[in-house]
Amino acid sequence: MSHATASRVQHVIGDPLSEAPARPREELEAIFGDIQADLRYDMELNGCLNCGICTATCPAAHYYDFSPREIVQLLWTENLEGIYDAMQEKIWACAQCYTCAARCPFGNSPGGLVMLMREAAIKHGMESAKNVLRPFSRVMLKLISTGNQLAPNMITPDHFADWGPNISKVDAPLKLLRKAIPMPTLNTTETAWEVNLKTSIELYTIWEMTGVLDQLEGIDENLFDVITDIMDEKREDYDDWLEDQEDDDEDD
Ligand code: SF4
Ligand code: SF4
Repeated sequence: MSHATASRVQHVIGDPLSEAPARPREELEAIFGDIQADLRYDMELNGCLNCGICTATCPAAHYYDFSPREIVQLLWTENLEGIYDAMQEKIWACAQCYTCAARCPFGNSPGGLVMLMREAAIKHGMESAKNVLRPFSRVMLKLISTGNQLAPNMITPDHFADWGPNISKVDAPLKLLRKAIPMPTLNTTETAWEVNLKTSIELYTIWEMTGVLDQLEGIDENLFDVITDIMDEKREDYDDWLEDQEDDDEDD
């Protein structure tokens, strides 16, 4: 049977009658190669009895179409197409609680392996990674640009409607209340705590040197541009501050 003319459905989900893999073999090998090349891989995968203890204790497996046993088996048997398929949705169900790692008789860490697959999904710019991370762009902006994430002034009834009446406990005169906290770094309402300018730049440099920002660029270019602008400004501020210090030292 010929499938030369693909329908719209076949174009989206592939041809169920075709034996050709949905993705080129080289791409599947490159993705698996990246997962396997990670230093953590050999520590987190030692073999698999297929016993299912990990799945029996996994909270995500109770609520989603997800099984850590299945994930480990896909990696252990080097099922490249299965690994790619799992990266389209299933791996994002894991809660990263590591109950599985505590229970596996082989000392595997299915949750840790899921993390490696997530990192590979980000590195390869998969749509699943973009879709999962998109709602967190505000938090990522805050985290990368200030060094911390949820600031007290972000906790408002508008943003946390699901908290119901409990929101009133935090929707209070925050500026006043936070002044009562003994640590001066927590007296702020715009950040969870004040991060020193030098520390911000050091954090940014770490993310730059370790490839985190390159990955972010592949996933969300707009967010990457905004963060880069903020950091360029901070670096200029820091250079100005250093120059001022030098001038002060010369004057003394
Ligand atoms: S780390 Fe993930 S796979 Fe392991 S038990 Fe928790 S939710 Fe399940
Ligand atoms: S990963 Fe461990 S607990 Fe899970 S099925 Fe394999 S051997 Fe069993």
